[in-house]
Amino acid sequence: MPRTTEEIALANPSPGTRRSLKVHRYGRPGARPRAYFHAALHADEWPGLLTLNHLIGLLDAADAEGRIAGEIVLLPYANPIGLSQHHHGYNTGRFAADGGGNFNRHWPDLTDAAMEKLDGKLGNDPAANEELVRAALKAAAGDLPRRTELETLKATLLSLSTGADMVFDVHCDSVSMMHLYAHKSHCDEAMALAGDLQSPAVLLEDDADDVPFDSANAAPWIRIKRRLGLNEALPGGCFAVTVELRGHNDVLDDLARSDAAGLFRFLMRRGVVAGDPGPLVEAPCAATPLAGVDVLQAPGPGIVAWRHEIGTRVEVGELMAELVDIEADDPAGARTPIHARASGLFFARMGSQARQRPASSLQKAFRCMSEGLFICLSRPYPAARFRNRGTGVPRRICRLTRESSSIMAFGPRHP
Ligand SMILES: [Zn+2]
Repeated sequence: MPRTTEEIALANPSPGTRRSLKVHRYGRPGARPRAYFHAALHADEWPGLLTLNHLIGLLDAADAEGRIAGEIVLLPYANPIGLSQHHHGYNTGRFAADGGGNFNRHWPDLTDAAMEKLDGKLGNDPAANEELVRAALKAAAGDLPRRTELETLKATLLSLSTGADMVFDVHCDSVSMMHLYAHKSHCDEAMALAGDLQSPAVLLEDDADDVPFDSANAAPWIRIKRRLGLNEALPGGCFAVTVELRGHNDVLDDLARSDAAGLFRFLMRRGVVAGDPGPLVEAPCAATPLAGVDVLQAPGPGIVAWRHEIGTRVEVGELMAELVDIEADDPAGARTPIHARASGLFFARMGSQARQRPASSLQKAFRCMSEGLFICLSRPYPAARFRNRGTGVPRRICRLTRESSSIMAFGPRHP
């Protein structure tokens, strides 16, 4: 059946102002597998907007050939609130300007509400159990509050994604190679996707306590299974993945076309779209634990002069960057070396050298400059249990870093 398109209005934030989401739907409603896509939940992350635009073209062509076997829900942009936040020429789409926080943190956890609805209903029929859990999660999403524009946005997105077999939350990082985040129980799916996208890094995590959108979709299934002691008695689940499409400036038509083709291949591989995806493509990396990501801190304010390009494999002790103290009277004594504390792939960092400038306060400068170096350990999951040594940075470092890095968005421009 042909694609349908719907506009869903968000709550009116102020008189004379209204924003809306656009939703494209492919396939028969209720058909499985069901896939959900949206781009730029952090509104100022644009590579995904272009990639999904290409994907729509591929899906339209497949639809015209009658090849949509499951159901696909695709939102070309996930965050019209963030897209409208412009300050002095910069789009500041990572945080809600009304104080609502990071758009990709603290999503509602539907586990408890769904468990209440399931009370005593699950039995011995795995297929029936799966449908009951899916319905309970959807009902829980339907009950979410919709009092403000931001609540409407979150409730609408989660209602659309809940019940999908796979959820693709498409973001980008600062200056970065492509990488994927997923729950560790979805390692096989993540690695298959990494093969089709040729992603050089895959980061797996346990339950994320700051509840990004991927976790809001994947974790309730995992928690319900765990709490009720179900395994084979509850098949199904949701492979929810955050796809980081390189860096903010990697908004290129050729890359977007190629990334869309990779996503489309994965849809064929999983039977959402009929067709031959070709042989399984090996991922160009091993899966690594998110807890194995190391972030080096600059010892103070200044400008970070990088010594390596993204994509370099580095060894412990290697000089990664120098912090240049612009207050020093003698440039010869202004540089403090910053060394790698782990061996691995240098896959992402804060904004480009040319754009790094001192911030207006020590604290802000420290936050801007102090968490800019990412090293993904190459040790395979789950052997690597890297803890940050004496940095005071919590274990869930990458999430926090991504949050902190957004500070740059309000300065020279990040990320
Ligand atoms: Zn993001």
